[in-house]
Amino acid sequence: MAVLKIALMGHPILRRAAEPVADPTDPEIRKLADDMRETLEDIGANGLAAPQVHVSKRVVVYRVAPHQIPPGAAMKPIPWRTLVNPVVTPRTEEKKPIWERCLSVPALHGQVPRFTKVRVSAKQTDGSDLTIDATGFHAMLLQHEIDHLDGILYPMRMTDLSTLAFNSELGDRGFFVPRSPEEFMD
Ligand code: ZN
Repeated sequence: MAVLKIALMGHPILRRAAEPVADPTDPEIRKLADDMRETLEDIGANGLAAPQVHVSKRVVVYRVAPHQIPPGAAMKPIPWRTLVNPVVTPRTEEKKPIWERCLSVPALHGQVPRFTKVRVSAKQTDGSDLTIDATGFHAMLLQHEIDHLDGILYPMRMTDLSTLAFNSELGDRGFFVPRSPEEFMD
């Protein structure tokens, strides 16, 4: 496995729609997913889309580790998942602003309106189908990562640019600490 280099905002690969994967069981896709996981472990982050490691394919890897769940947040840990050719469908019309950051937009965070409930359908690397019904933070994470496959970075979804801020200005609160109790509620 290998730790991969992250493409930063401004790199053209991040603005391009990624190619569908013809064969989700292709060993190259599994290797890509393994390397993406190792990269996330190295950085200590939750999710990564293949264009962020300079590969224009519709592959997302994510997890939510127990230590990344803020105190009081209604979230459960999510084990590693690899999504190949994922499709996201909102299960509500309701959107709520949620704080996001992105490995391709370092040092910043901002508030993005996201659907609070989504369904994601995808293939896994063993060829099986996966359907995920997600809410709250999990739903945001999936919308964020799948946006990468369509060349969209979270600042392009922001409706209130006054919330765009440097992480260093948060002090001890850190990115994952909710500003209000309902922020991470399912
Ligand atoms: Zn991102």
